[in-house]
Parts: sequence; C-alpha cells; structure tokens
Amino acid sequence: MSDREPVAHFIRSIIENDLAAGKHSSIVTRFPPEPNGYLHVGHAKSICLNFGLAEDFNGACNLRFDDTNPEKESEEYAQSIQDDVRWLGFHWNGEVRWASDYFETLYQCGETLIKLGKAYVDDLTQEQMREYRGTLTEPGKNSPFRDRSIEENLDLFRRMRAGEFADGARVLRARIDMQSPNINMRDPVIYRIRRAHHIRTGDQWCIYPMYDYTHCISDALEGITHSLCTLEFEDHRPLYDWVLDQLEPEKMVPCHPRQYEFSRLELHYTITSKRKLNQLVTQQFVSGWDDPRMPTIAGMRRRGYTPSGIREFARVIGISKSLNVVDMSVLEGCIRDDLEASAPRVMAVINPLKVTLTNYEAGVTGTRTGEFHPKRPELGSREVPIASTLWIEADDFLENPPEDWHRFKPGGEVRLRYSYVIRCDEVVKDAAGKVVELKCSIDHETLGKNPVGRKVKGVIHWVSAEHALPIEVRLYDRLFTEARPDADKERDFTEFLNSESLRLVQGWAEPCIRQAAPETHYQFERLGYFVTDRKDHDANGKHVFNRVVSLKDSWAKPA
Ligand code: ATP
Ligand code: MG
Repeated sequence: MSDREPVAHFIRSIIENDLAAGKHSSIVTRFPPEPNGYLHVGHAKSICLNFGLAEDFNGACNLRFDDTNPEKESEEYAQSIQDDVRWLGFHWNGEVRWASDYFETLYQCGETLIKLGKAYVDDLTQEQMREYRGTLTEPGKNSPFRDRSIEENLDLFRRMRAGEFADGARVLRARIDMQSPNINMRDPVIYRIRRAHHIRTGDQWCIYPMYDYTHCISDALEGITHSLCTLEFEDHRPLYDWVLDQLEPEKMVPCHPRQYEFSRLELHYTITSKRKLNQLVTQQFVSGWDDPRMPTIAGMRRRGYTPSGIREFARVIGISKSLNVVDMSVLEGCIRDDLEASAPRVMAVINPLKVTLTNYEAGVTGTRTGEFHPKRPELGSREVPIASTLWIEADDFLENPPEDWHRFKPGGEVRLRYSYVIRCDEVVKDAAGKVVELKCSIDHETLGKNPVGRKVKGVIHWVSAEHALPIEVRLYDRLFTEARPDADKERDFTEFLNSESLRLVQGWAEPCIRQAAPETHYQFERLGYFVTDRKDHDANGKHVFNRVVSLKDSWAKPA
C-alpha cells in the first residue's frame, strides 16, 4: 500500500543487495512491541518501516509481542496495539505472535547454553552483581559462582523453573566476558525468578527470560531476515549475535537473523516516552491514552489524523542513523495536505455573531448549490439554505477596522460564500457596548453575479440560524509550549503543558452534516480541518467536532 515512491535509505539498500546476491529469496521483518502501553508516533515510524519494507519487497512482517515483563503488561495494551497497526493500514503475517509462545524453547535453549558451558546460575544479590559488573571505565569481576559445574548449573536451573527458590534468589547468566569493554557482554542475566501472573501463560512459569535473550531467539525461530530496531540497541547487537552463534550450531535455532539499527523519532512539542505518556494518563493531565492531544496512535486517530497522512509523514522523515528530531509542523503539514485533497468542505461558525437580513423575502431570496470539493466533483454538492437570520464569525466584523480590512464593517459590503453580497446597515449593541447583532440588506442582484459598479473583495462564511445544527467544537492545540518538554533535567516535563491545549466552544454548522458518522472529516471553510469525535459524536444526538489541524501553520515563525 505504498502511497508514493519509496524513499531510498541504507536499510532498503541492504535488503536490495541481499536479494540481488541471493542471500535471501524473500524478506521477513517484524514489529516487536511490548504490550506495556499504547503505541506512539515513534512506533508509527517503526511500523511503517517494518510493514512497509515487507510490502515493497513482497515479503512478510510479523507482529510479535515482547511479553517478558508480566507485571507491566496487559490485554488492553495488546488489543490497542493490534487496533493501531490495522488502523495504520498494515497486515501482519499469519497470527499474532508472542514471545511467550516460545517460553519452552527459550528454556531449552537455556539448558543448551548451560551444557555448552556458556551459562551459569548465579547466587549473587542484585547489589553484588552491580558491584561485580564494573563500570564503563573499569572491567568487571567474575562472580564466585561462575565456575559451577555443568551438572550443578543444570540442576539449579531446573529447580529455578520448578519454583524451589524465592524471587530474586538466583539468576541464569550467559558466560561471556566480565572484562568486555561492552557492559552488555559482561555475563548478562538471561533468566530471572519472578512469581508474576502472565497475561498469556498465567502462573505456568515463575522464571522469565530477559528481553535481549528472548528477542534474538524469537527472531531466529520466526525466520526473520532483517531485524530492525532503534539505535539504543546497537550495543546489544554483539549479545544478539553471541546468543545465536552458540545456538545455531546446536540446531536450537534455524537461522541467524541480522540486526540493523536506525535512529528513533523525536518529535518537537511532544514526548515519545511510554513512561511519560503513562504519567500524563495516570495523573489525569489528559483524558486517557486516546486523548486527541496525545502523540499516541489512538490519540492521533481520535484527533482526526489520517493513516495515509501518518504514513506520508513516516516516508518524508526517512530512515537513517543520524538524529531524527522533527518539528510537529512536519506532521501537521502531512495531515493538512492529506485532508486538503480529501475532506469535503462545508461552512460552520464557531464564534457566532447574529446577522438579520432586513430585506429577506421567503420564496424570493434564493439559495445556491455548493460543491463539496473544488477539485473532486465526485464528492457531490448540497444546497446551502438561507433564511432571515444568519450566524457569521464574530471575528469577521470590526467596528473600527484598519485600512486594508476586506471583511465586514459598518456600512461595508461582503459576499456571503455561495450567496449574495450584503451590506451592514446597522450595528446593534448590548448595554455593555458589545456588538450583538448586525442588521444587513441583501443586494438581490448578486446571486452568482458580481455587483454592478463596485468591487466587493471580502467573502465570509456563514450559516442560516434556522437551519444550522448546533455543534460542540473542541479546539485542540499542542500539548506542550516547549519544543523539548523533557530536555530540562531540573524541571519536570509536566511544567511545560500548554494550558490552552483544549478550548471548548459551541458553534453552528450547515445542516448537511447532520448524518455524519463518527470519524468523518470536513474542512470547515476558513477555519480548518475537523473530525467528528470517535467516542462522543452521535449522529442522532450530540454533534462533536475535534479540530484536527488549522488551515495554515499558525505556529510558523514570521519571516
Ligand atoms: P519500552 O521498551 O521502554 O517500553 P519502547 O518505546 O522501546 O519502550 P517497544 O514496545 O519496545 O517500546 O517498541 C517497539 C518497537 O518500536 C521497537 O522496535 C522500538 O525500537 C520501536 N520504537 C520505539 N520508539 C521509537 C521511536 N521513537 N522511533 C522509532 N522507533 C521506535
Ligand atoms: Mg523497547
């Protein structure tokens, strides 16, 4: 489903070369989320890469849950991740896979490593292990338990599995090199004892494999050809390879996939850390994981971002090993371009000012047909009804406007979009001096025609008060006021939340949107792109619209 020409990048070249050289006849990638939170825009980059490459090369992409931390994982998260991948428009190969499907094999691989003298059971406490590990500048020291016999290790490992020891009492460690300059290679823990209920395996296991150990074996068992991950795993690659180098000759795994790293996406004006997103939810700074201000895929969906817009974003930001810090305006631009091409246009007023047409004549004053999209006739058209009372945007009227003001003013004329030119004859104010109504007259000669003898430059949007549908409008803005809310170590990122990221207003829209289903997009002319809320909009009851994105980039710095 590649939308546009794929962008060249180093991983794509590697795959092309591997296929050309006959190293693989087809490719298999995977997306390996941990079901411990909702996916965010950074994950969308990884999804588009993994699933996108599989599509481009007629290969396959697996969805595999990395479910090795039972305490943090839940069925809700696993479900949301599947929904998100599907919504983005991708299909995984076969059934959803779970690292826990391989727990028995992973355990057997552990025994194999022990039998090879490549793993041992260690009794050091966590604190002692930390001491023995050394630092970036100092080598580690061997544990006194490192030279246990194979028999003793096998026996202890089996008894770990059987539940004979307390949580944390012992671990299984790979026996690699405590002097390695790479700390990941200093006899990393590969199994720990933890009595925790697992979402898939229940209480079947009280030992759980560690991520690094699980990941490479799972990749190999699934015949993954290119295992793509973010750069923080670069230092873990030697361990990935070490584990498979031990197990492949023993026929415990069928192949040795290759890991390639790319830089993670960081998006300005938001955060891409599951832990911090979780904090926003649990501390109720937002209404939930799918709050339309959240950079989660569920949040972006509810906000009205489109799968094709997000895929285009992933395409333009590219894949490399250099820093991938992108401004929010790039994402907003991709969404705007997508909606510009696809969303029907209607009129709505979100800050209403009453206009009374003093010479409106029922049956004489006509209406016009409006096309839903100037470039997409197939979207059709609708009648735009008119009556004697209208709502216009209060911001389109100024009592004392500057010279170059082309919109409405006392005595001035404007064209009502799809309708007549009207003149403002009288300004009505309340006791406090606030403008509450404009009394206007229609030039009946101007329906679909220019007025004679003068130019009217301004065109404003409006709705007929009698026909209009009341709508609740949620005006969303960026969640943070700072480009990098979590950059300051001294201050908590929640200090930079934008207090104006949500404004609720009541407005009016053309009646033609009455039947809109949830998740229907519109351009409200001159206001921006809006979507009917996925949860709260009800075509038969409350009409709720979220602002997806404004028409122009209002955050752009003045030139
Ligand atoms: P954690 O492991 O701390 O829970 P995570 O963001 O790494 O968080 P995973 O579920 O492990 O979450 O991520 C699944 C995949 O998405 C991984 O391959 C990871 O590299 C990738 N990924 C995560 N964050 C980003 C990002 N910001 N940009 C690109 N890819 C990302
Ligand atoms: Mg991770």
